Amino acid sequence: MESFLVRPATRRQATLAGITTLLILGVFALAVPRATQALPAVPPFMPMCALTVFTTACIVSFLLSAQFTVTRQPILGALGGAYAFTALAVALQLMMFPGVFTPDGLFGAGPDSALWMWVFWHGGFPFFVILAVVMRNLSGEALIRPRNVGLWTWGLVGGPVAVGVALCGLALYGDLPSALKVAGSSGGYERNATALVIWALNVVAIAVVLLRGRLRAVLDIWISIALLACLIDTSLNLLSAARFSVGWYLARVFSMFAPGVLVCVLVWEVTVLYRRLFAAHVTLLQTSVHDALTAIYNRSYFNAQFGKEFERAKRGNLPLSLIMIDVDHFKRYNDALGHPKGDACLVAVASALAGVVRRPADFVCRYGGEEFAIVLPDTDLHGASEIAAQATQAVMRLRLDAPAPAGYVTVSAGCAALRWERLADELVEAADVALYRAKAAGRNRVHLADG
Ligand code: GH3
Ligand code: MG
Ligand code: MG
Repeated sequence: MESFLVRPATRRQATLAGITTLLILGVFALAVPRATQALPAVPPFMPMCALTVFTTACIVSFLLSAQFTVTRQPILGALGGAYAFTALAVALQLMMFPGVFTPDGLFGAGPDSALWMWVFWHGGFPFFVILAVVMRNLSGEALIRPRNVGLWTWGLVGGPVAVGVALCGLALYGDLPSALKVAGSSGGYERNATALVIWALNVVAIAVVLLRGRLRAVLDIWISIALLACLIDTSLNLLSAARFSVGWYLARVFSMFAPGVLVCVLVWEVTVLYRRLFAAHVTLLQTSVHDALTAIYNRSYFNAQFGKEFERAKRGNLPLSLIMIDVDHFKRYNDALGHPKGDACLVAVASALAGVVRRPADFVCRYGGEEFAIVLPDTDLHGASEIAAQATQAVMRLRLDAPAPAGYVTVSAGCAALRWERLADELVEAADVALYRAKAAGRNRVHLADG
């Protein structure tokens, strides 16, 4: 099974992606000159954003990993891992952040621990996306073997999570130098090696997805947009170190956008799939209960529905009638005119029979070859015999030329109404016996079951 994510994007999706890209770039262009401008301080904004990133990244990771286990396409598991890393990194960064849970941050965090965790998060996500795309290019179209899916899920998702835990240890206890030094004049960070590396990783990730990916595929389009959001988040953070500045606020908005956009795409696509599945299910149900030749109900429908009507009538002590109808000398008709004409005759007969039932609960179905059944709930034998007479006349009125003896197509009918029968089959048998008698008595007539 192929994931919808690796299918080519529709024109609408491509247009939407184009507009989103332009909007992101537009906001960035407007924000750059004002990045260091101070805005009113909203202290809960940072934890709120971090929590949003954590939740959405967890959802994306779960959905992608779930799709991997079904489709066995490694790229989905690898990207699930990249988002699992993001979720963990942002959660750890929030816990280490001074003043959120404790004044200095949890786990004995040093003054630079949270900043280093931020660096690992913003460098790690693009790094794992690069790995995922490179892995897809190396493995081609190969799928993971079904029995290895569990192991691969642990590897692809658990690997980045383990790296996240190790990096957390490094940020906390690694005795690392100052992560990013703030430059005095601009309000942004100094252009040091760390800043350059994470910024370059984001640029390289976008380049890899654009050049080595399949940009026509839904996944590649939205992953490149998520990476662009991540690059702008990183750039704005590097441009403006000061908390509660325009750049700082917008960077957090973009950090939520990177997993958020994927959640929207995944949920939307699943909804579309659900709609299609529902439509396919309805069509399948319709086809499964209709006869392919005559388009009236088929034997399966008769078996299920007649059984229900029978039980309903017995329980409520209500009348129920059944008419069995058989085309007379149909073998001769086929032999004389050929099977295609025989088929056309059955279609015409079915439509004539369908025309005589009027109540919503009544139904006509093709019981077998040239045999039809009419089920009449809430109808006694007298009412059924009238409908059966109308049915034989309706077929005669078709004036379908047939070989002798009649010269045109006729039908015989046997009617039975519910009396003492304990099983639905017994009522069918009673109607069938009446039909047999109608045949024996000369055909083109209606016979009623005894009693
Ligand atoms: P009777 O009056 O006793 O019912 O005679 P009959 O010839 O109608 O009955 P018989 O059971 O001998 O033949 C039924 C014929 O119906 C034989 C079979 O080829 C034909 N038949 C059954 N299903 C179809 C179908 O789907 N299309 C066509 N063209 N013929 C069919
Ligand atoms: Mg027949
Ligand atoms: Mg027959």
